[in-house]
Amino acid sequence: MTTMSHQHTLPAELDDLVARYEVRRNEAPKPAQERAALLAAPKFGTVFTDHMARVTWRAADGWTDRRVEPYGPLQLDPATAVLHYAQEIFEGMKAYKHADGSVWGFRPEQNAQRYARSAHRLALPALPEEDFLASLVALVRTDLDWVPDGEDSSLYLRPFMFASEAFLGVRAANVVEHLVIASPVGPYFASGVKPVSIYLSDTYHRAGAPGGTGDAKFGGNYAASLLPQQEAQAKGFDQVCFLDSATSTYLEELGGMNVFLVMEDGSLHTPQLGSILEGITRRSVLQLAADRGHEVVERRIPAAELVDGLASGQVKEFFACGTAAVVTPIGRFASSDFDVTVGDGGSGELTMALRTELTDIQYGRAEDRHGWMRRLA
Ligand SMILES: *Cc1c(COP(=O)(O)O)cnc(C)c1O
Repeated sequence: MTTMSHQHTLPAELDDLVARYEVRRNEAPKPAQERAALLAAPKFGTVFTDHMARVTWRAADGWTDRRVEPYGPLQLDPATAVLHYAQEIFEGMKAYKHADGSVWGFRPEQNAQRYARSAHRLALPALPEEDFLASLVALVRTDLDWVPDGEDSSLYLRPFMFASEAFLGVRAANVVEHLVIASPVGPYFASGVKPVSIYLSDTYHRAGAPGGTGDAKFGGNYAASLLPQQEAQAKGFDQVCFLDSATSTYLEELGGMNVFLVMEDGSLHTPQLGSILEGITRRSVLQLAADRGHEVVERRIPAAELVDGLASGQVKEFFACGTAAVVTPIGRFASSDFDVTVGDGGSGELTMALRTELTDIQYGRAEDRHGWMRRLA
């Protein structure tokens, strides 16, 4: 635990914005005992805190009606645009409790900026960075008791924005909602980190056509990945990996995680940006690896090169990364015409070192030398 990291607070102006959130308290919060039981064994994505943050946008008024209200179902007109034309975006991040009880976000301004870029691509209004951060802080402070303190547990925050106007005409909506909901989450791997198996899809592409929506955090990209994911699982694999849709040659990413190769010479290679989602974990891994003296390369990586490299030993480690599973070793890589083991099929040394370093920073166990952590509460 370093005291230094505690200097990385959010800007003071943010407090004024947070104060603008009207808190409408949940009259029937989960009893403390029930909450304690849920926090002791969090089930990601099924249990939510007592409140949600919400801001409404109208074309005529901009962002208005900032509030924190009881978590609960939304009432939507059947003609609500998002249900028909999928005009929506989301973010995913975690709030980490440190040993002294303080609660921290990891590079949340990066999520705010990506949210604005995604909004632009989906013709949604940009939520200013400070407003995005204020909505997180307002919710986390209201539901502070919901931040778990177990090892590798956190409060997963899910900001999302959708076209809420009831209108069937095809155009960008004039009414939009931004919400933040939160779900306590335990370690992704309950019984220790385990390498995952990946199936390279030779039938489907994700969303990453040139000029497409692959670089936006857009629900439709996920919808398009569900069938390939189902088919990969039916073949016995954990996750599916996609190739570029222009040439079906180069590695892109998994359904919701970026990928990295560790070469025999110690360099790290990852697919270049463009049609993939720019992960904040990806960006952080590039920095941490460079700090350790590894050469880092962002380029087009032919899948054939990876397959050959794994067979010859030129590629020593292969891993995936994202907020949910942090850094996850890949143990097996296959498709209809190849099936290769990564390294010895176990967890690579650099993969695990980067995973430990990143989580140590996030949980305040290591010095935050890049100033990545932001105090939320
Ligand atoms: C969110 C996401 C990632 C990972 O991004 P992080 O910021 O590291 O969590 C990678 N790929 C896709 C498609 C995603 O939606």
